[in-house]
Amino acid sequence: MTEAEILLPVQCPVCAQEALTGFRISVVADALRTGEIRLYAPCHVASWEASEEEIFLLHEYLECRRSPRRATAVNGVPKI
Ligand SMILES: [Zn+2]
Repeated sequence: MTEAEILLPVQCPVCAQEALTGFRISVVADALRTGEIRLYAPCHVASWEASEEEIFLLHEYLECRRSPRRATAVNGVPKI
């Protein structure tokens, strides 16, 4: 069974292009716990340790994604 992936916006350090890149859920969970993650850019063969800022953005991004979904689950019907 293939583990599900979460798409994260990653900016390539080579060409500065931002792309949604798939990371396994366990990898992302580890990143949130340890504050360390190895990012990679799909457009170039590049990988690097995420900076504090990138980890921060990762938190922000996941919070944004999670909040509306949680609200939907609680209320049953999404608010407009
Ligand atoms: Zn690139």
